[in-house]
Amino acid sequence: MRLLTTIRRKAKTVARKLREARMFARAMHSARHPILAQIVPIRRCNLACVYCNEFDSHSPPVPTAEMLRRIDRLAELGTTIITLSGGEPMLHPDLDLLIRRIRQRGAIATLITNGYFLVPERIRQLNRAGLDYLQISIDNLEPDETSKKSLKVLDRKLQWLARHAEFAVSVNSVLGSPVRRPSDALAVSRRAHQLGFTGTVGILHDHNGQVMPLGREQMEIFEEILKLEKAVFSFSHYGRFQRNIARGEPNEWRCRAGSRFLYVCEDGLVHYCSQRRGKPAIPLAEYGAEHLEREFHTVKPCAPFCTISCVHQTAMLDAVREDPRGMLRQLTARRRASDPAFQTPALLRALEWMFLEPRNAALFNRVARIVFGLRKPARRLP
Ligand code: SF4
Ligand code: SF4
Repeated sequence: MRLLTTIRRKAKTVARKLREARMFARAMHSARHPILAQIVPIRRCNLACVYCNEFDSHSPPVPTAEMLRRIDRLAELGTTIITLSGGEPMLHPDLDLLIRRIRQRGAIATLITNGYFLVPERIRQLNRAGLDYLQISIDNLEPDETSKKSLKVLDRKLQWLARHAEFAVSVNSVLGSPVRRPSDALAVSRRAHQLGFTGTVGILHDHNGQVMPLGREQMEIFEEILKLEKAVFSFSHYGRFQRNIARGEPNEWRCRAGSRFLYVCEDGLVHYCSQRRGKPAIPLAEYGAEHLEREFHTVKPCAPFCTISCVHQTAMLDAVREDPRGMLRQLTARRRASDPAFQTPALLRALEWMFLEPRNAALFNRVARIVFGLRKPARRLP
């Protein structure tokens, strides 16, 4: 049984990487579609973390037929990753149907959960539904008045995930002023790596999604957590934005929320992100190419001190698209700065070959179009 799960997990990982490569190629090829949409199937949550402004204790689930329509609309807009979040999305009675529809429409299916409802059979159902990624956020070792998302409660769930999940799992620990014992975040990250998961660290924001700088002890722990991540392409390693956020310093970047990133609330309205609900607040059914284009160019005044990492990540892909050579140079330079013994891996050498030499870049572009079946964009957004 264990061996079968391992074989299936490996096979699914290969298939997922290929789909991600296609997503990456599409994101590089054109800026005229959303890369990532977060969609809320239910606002209700079974917990009540004190720092959270994204839940209530009473909302009913969005009717399944309506959710399927919204997923179809996101697919029509060309969305490549669809993330189900909440509230607690596992409270939606037809969650697996929604995941299946996301996969049928060719997108990558991701779930953000507090993990409380995970048991072996539920994990196997998520496997069968075709889930690609699951993210759990764990705030502390022992439950306290701030959060019940504790390793003590969730470690059993993590072990079940390590045993049964055929999808990729990422465990997010958090730092920030409401967190009572910052050292817990390091322990959570170490446990995630020990179980073979990706460990990420988030920095808590205020109720407008804006930065709250870390103290000295939290900053040291933050650096320790980043060192645990060995992947060259890890956003946390590359992400100078996270270090600036941790220090309370501004970031220079273009937020493409409303275009490359969409947040669809339980009422079916498109907002910039979970922390900018109310803008532009247009029904998804009416959201089209002109909205995507307009919001791509709209300057968001909240950008310098924004902590919403998934929007930064989509913006990073656009930064690579606009200046692949510059970004690849920065990527290797940064990795070498944190690890002088760093040897450029084969994949990165291949990318350098593709992008740093203009003749190769043109050839790669042609090959990628053929391999991934991409059409030449009618007009490229700047
Ligand atoms: S579990 Fe998640 S959605 Fe629920 S209250 Fe906590 S942070 Fe908010
Ligand atoms: S900069 Fe963008 S992602 Fe960040 S809070 Fe503002 S609208 Fe949201």
